[in-house]
Amino acid sequence: MTRHVAVVGSGPSGFYAAEALLNASEDIVIDMFERLPTPYGLVRSGVAPDHLKLKQVTLVFDKIMRSERFHFLGNVSVGTDVPIDALLKAYDGVVLAYGACADRKMSIAGEGLTNSHSATEFVGWYNGHPDFRDRTFDLGQETAVVVGHGNVAADVARILLQPPDDLRRTDIAAHALDALAKSKVREVHLVGRRGPAQAKFTTRELRGLGTIPGCESVVDGNAIRLGPACEVEISEKSNLNALQNVQFFRGLCEAEGARTSRRLIFHFCLSPERLEGEAGKVDRFVFRKNSLRGGPFDQTADPTDDLLPIECGLVFGSIGYRGQPLERLPFDSRRGVVPNRKGRVESDGITVDGLYVTGWLKRGPTGIIGTNRADSIETVQQIMEDFSNREAKSPQGRTALSETIHGRSARIIGLPDWLKIDAAECAVGRRAGKPREKFTRIAEMLEVVSVA
Ligand SMILES: Cc1cc2nc3c(=O)[nH]c(=O)nc-3n(C[C@H](O)[C@H](O)[C@H](O)COP(=O)(O)OP(=O)(O)OC[C@H]3O[C@@H](n4cnc5c(N)ncnc54)[C@H](O)[C@@H]3O)c2cc1C
Repeated sequence: MTRHVAVVGSGPSGFYAAEALLNASEDIVIDMFERLPTPYGLVRSGVAPDHLKLKQVTLVFDKIMRSERFHFLGNVSVGTDVPIDALLKAYDGVVLAYGACADRKMSIAGEGLTNSHSATEFVGWYNGHPDFRDRTFDLGQETAVVVGHGNVAADVARILLQPPDDLRRTDIAAHALDALAKSKVREVHLVGRRGPAQAKFTTRELRGLGTIPGCESVVDGNAIRLGPACEVEISEKSNLNALQNVQFFRGLCEAEGARTSRRLIFHFCLSPERLEGEAGKVDRFVFRKNSLRGGPFDQTADPTDDLLPIECGLVFGSIGYRGQPLERLPFDSRRGVVPNRKGRVESDGITVDGLYVTGWLKRGPTGIIGTNRADSIETVQQIMEDFSNREAKSPQGRTALSETIHGRSARIIGLPDWLKIDAAECAVGRRAGKPREKFTRIAEMLEVVSVA
């Protein structure tokens, strides 16, 4: 008997869940709901434009989309256009894969000043996400501070310092490329709460920062002198990334100063204290110096009495992402995830029948694209186990939902529509020597599909 499964969200975790379900049984049919008219989640709107090779993972997702047992329903927001209860009634299983795209705030005085932004806004803007299309960033400032020592912070620093000509042949949004071409940003301070051995950059990303043309990377030699606990941490075999990161920073200290027009400066053991500025705009970022205390892998960044002001005109906070609750779904607001056991959603420790979760919404914003594959396989294992103990439902799938969905005025984007949008983006991009020129407004996308 056919089982109908709804997947909510079309990022990597949604597609990997769909793939695992399709492989698990020929009797499974999938409807994937996506709030935007375009698929791929953060692969389209998060991964940096100059990481073109990584974006080829969409070829795997395209293959899944072409399966006869798979239906894409884009431009449908679950929770707004379709209540989650309606999905639970119409499907044998509902997999929540809608990600964790809200940013964590620094929660300091002055965060609301003009020119203080979250990395999420900037990333969404340069990647052409419709939600961020109309944001503006004052790139007339010479000095920017990026708070965070993870890969997203690295992306933001790199995009700010990269010569715009190096981005011309990527899928960066045209409005962002135009603004970056006029940018006056010459110096970026990349600031982390803990030490070089605890920085979360993957070494590959870090090395990418060291090879930005025309940009010198600088680190204070004192800051990378490690204490005994840090030395133990980087000597652990399982912590190779940390060792390689520290080696990278040591290499920077030994390198001869270069004459470059742009500089990237790494700072360690600093916590955001407050932003200061005259006339409502950022002039200065004041940090509190921390000191690392505790044993290996158990060190905390304890605040000291010392403050360090950094003069700057532009700030990006990149201290993590969190999921958002949907309607009355169970939610762990502390961790920003849907509570679950191996992917089965739980409410106060009790399993919610037919409801599952995967990806960033399941485990939090960690890991690379491939991490979501194993995560989704685990969730699908629970679904298959439950299916073997439960009768299939009737009526099923989107036919049972047709009144709810088709009662909306907005057009639902199916696979043929997405292929039209895709072809149009690629055609416009080709003319500019880019892989694609993304439509950045939903109205533009809908106009393309409305043409016969
Ligand atoms: C800035 C940035 C750069 C990154 N760079 C890399 C990189 O270089 N390499 C790498 O391996 N990983 C990278 N990652 C990590 C990678 O993107 C994530 O691991 C992955 O995208 C998480 O997948 P997901 O499916 O859980 O969530 P997402 O990719 O966020 O997908 C969630 C989807 O759900 C949709 N959605 C949201 N709400 C609803 C709703 N109510 N109804 C329907 N649909 C909804 C969203 O529109 C989105 O399409 C990066 C992440 C970020 C933020």
